[in-house]
Amino acid sequence: MLTEEHLLIRQSIRDFVKKEISPNIEKWAQDAHFPSEIVRKFGDVGAFGPTIPQEYGGGGLDYISYGLIMQEIERGDSGMRSTASVQGSLVMFPIYAYGSEEQRKKYLPKLASGEWLGCFGLTEPDHGSNPGGMTTNIKDMGDHYLLNGAKLWISNSPECQVAVVWAKNEQGRIKGVIVERGMEGFSTPEIHNKWSLRASTTGELVFEDVKIPKENILPNVDGLKGPLSCLDSARFGIAWGAIGAAIDCYESALKYSLQREQFGKPIASYQLQQKKLAEMITEITKAQLMAWRLGVLKNEGKATSAQISMAKRNSVEMALHVAREARQIHGGMGITGEYPIMRHMMNLESVITYEGTHDIHLLITGADITGIQAFK
Ligand code: FAD
Repeated sequence: MLTEEHLLIRQSIRDFVKKEISPNIEKWAQDAHFPSEIVRKFGDVGAFGPTIPQEYGGGGLDYISYGLIMQEIERGDSGMRSTASVQGSLVMFPIYAYGSEEQRKKYLPKLASGEWLGCFGLTEPDHGSNPGGMTTNIKDMGDHYLLNGAKLWISNSPECQVAVVWAKNEQGRIKGVIVERGMEGFSTPEIHNKWSLRASTTGELVFEDVKIPKENILPNVDGLKGPLSCLDSARFGIAWGAIGAAIDCYESALKYSLQREQFGKPIASYQLQQKKLAEMITEITKAQLMAWRLGVLKNEGKATSAQISMAKRNSVEMALHVAREARQIHGGMGITGEYPIMRHMMNLESVITYEGTHDIHLLITGADITGIQAFK
């Protein structure tokens, strides 16, 4: 169901991941090291903003291409995919969709090439699943705004040059604010000691009377639909990306089971191991079909937020299950860095929580089918 172009894109990203990420990722993750040089390389290979028009430095591709790019990067590592999806869907998308022409021209080409790294500030210490309760705010000072507040759990923040931040104005309306590194009162402390997404850098965003020029407000969006529409785009990428992590676990488990002998035979010859492998490939195939169909709907402008929630939730749960089964097939070796399994599994523990938790996505499906919101 993929076109020649889709296959070419998938292969080029697969080759890139094999060359630039797979040989190093285990060490980066074990050392909790974010390889900042990967940002430029992602730019060169077209991983940032694949669906953004080419005149702004993007790839001008369709959503299935975008999904395949996320799948192949996450086959390498969910942390690396997080870096790419934040840049494309959470930073470039809002600037493209809601920014002025000046903002598009100023930021998008630099973000597409990887000259600049961006981050997306929505979550706060006291407002995660309920972003509408945010307290970060902007105050109109006449010729500029003053930004105050704090964001937590922000991917890419410690290394970002630019942050798209969501804050309430004096009327209580949520506005998108472009904050640049170097603005006085803006800092990005790093969060340490994560057991998950260790090769991705995560931090806070702290704003103390940061003077924001008026031209740094996204002019064409107002309210929670701004950040939520960005999340739709990123969640679509996760629905594809998590499948990549599952494929990597499955392939490692299949290979290991054919090589590892116990009781005089490869463990792949025992029915219990075959059951695990058969169920893994079945679940991966089902998730791929859902992601593909969602891609077709997205290309036609018809994918709903609820459909995207369903696919994100399904793919991540499936990938975590595949990782756990693959871990068992690898026996004791499955807990080591010799194999990618444990790293994928720990990464997926973040992926199942960020961009809307597993519970919240279930309740979004519940609201979609009953018409009753159970989470407010
Ligand atoms: P909470 O909202 O406190 O939820 C805790 C538990 O309560 C969850 O199980 C949740 O499902 C459940 N719960 C909450 N409300 C309800 C309800 N009404 N009904 C039933 N159950 C409920 N955010 C950004 O803005 N930008 C980023 O770049 C970013 N990157 C991240 C990177 C990492 C590694 C992580 C871990 C998080 C990141 N996040 C980011 C934040 C992420 O989106 C939040 O962690 C997530 O939205 C959940 O918020 P919370 O952690 O405050 O949990």
